[in-house]
Amino acid sequence: MRIHVNDPLDKSAMERLMNSGYNVTSEHLEKDELIKEIPNIDVLVVRSATKVTADIIEAGKNLKIIARAGTGLDNVDVEKAKEKGIKVINTPGANGISVAELAIGLMISCARHIAKGTMDLKNGEWTKKQLKGHELYKRTVGIIGFGNIGREVAKRLLAFDMRVLAYDPFVKETDMNVEIVDLDTIFKESDFITIHVPLTNETKHLVSKEAFEKMKDGVILINAARGGVVDEEALYNALASGKVYAAGLDVFEVEPPTDELRKKLLELPNVVATPHIGASTVEAQLRVGQIIVDKILEEVKK
Ligand code: NAD
Repeated sequence: MRIHVNDPLDKSAMERLMNSGYNVTSEHLEKDELIKEIPNIDVLVVRSATKVTADIIEAGKNLKIIARAGTGLDNVDVEKAKEKGIKVINTPGANGISVAELAIGLMISCARHIAKGTMDLKNGEWTKKQLKGHELYKRTVGIIGFGNIGREVAKRLLAFDMRVLAYDPFVKETDMNVEIVDLDTIFKESDFITIHVPLTNETKHLVSKEAFEKMKDGVILINAARGGVVDEEALYNALASGKVYAAGLDVFEVEPPTDELRKKLLELPNVVATPHIGASTVEAQLRVGQIIVDKILEEVKK
């Protein structure tokens, strides 16, 4: 039984795996090398960097388990794995608090110009008069996707005394002080919109040009889910025209965001951005590592 870790795991999780008695290898193999090596691998462990595509799965003659240390499965061809009888495991919920905290950080940074103020000061500029912002207090936030992260965000924003709306086709009611509404209501009534859905065929460009047209003037948009959920061309136009007051982005349709559209987007002064660090905390990685190792060891014993 060979377990190959292709994207780095937390140190303590790695040590547990190494001491498990199985043949454990750890090295990031790029696609071509991974395709060559995959016939000798029983369990492939990845985070988000490795794209486990259909051809890799097809070449995995001995592959039994794909373990994704994290939540989103958009980097794994789950359908292909299912077809080949390969089990896909992940760690839902393990990094939710970290992502929720980052989303709220981006929200406050957008509303209060924290990043712009920092940059201006570092450039020797005192832009106090230009940086008047907004409170979150008593304003309306719309959460798109009311799963683990969406609920953690709601819990925290209720403490800011916000009116919280949520849209999720699979959630009809909640015991939280949150109004479950349709997507149009989110677009029309929210001062802040924060996205917490997986990237699927249904959610690709869910926040489109038409969606921006429905939104309130001066809305703040946060995306710490997946880049593809927002049409970033439409976002650029909405930001440049002032329709959208500011956007806080942890994820991009192209990562790293080095192409023309993303560069243009990042140059806008009302964009606050982080390099996909939603789950990058010591605590989340420890939790994710522990859970994925538990799950792997449980599965291989079956
Ligand atoms: P989750 O599965 O608990 O919640 C996702 C929710 O989205 C579910 O309740 C689901 O019903 C809902 N949903 C599905 N399709 C929808 C649609 N069309 N419209 C509205 N809602 C829809 O997952 P989670 O742990 O809350 O994570 C959400 C997403 O956040 C992940 O899929 C991942 O893409 C992203 N994420 C990002 C980071 C980061 O580093 N920035 C880290 C972890 C997760």
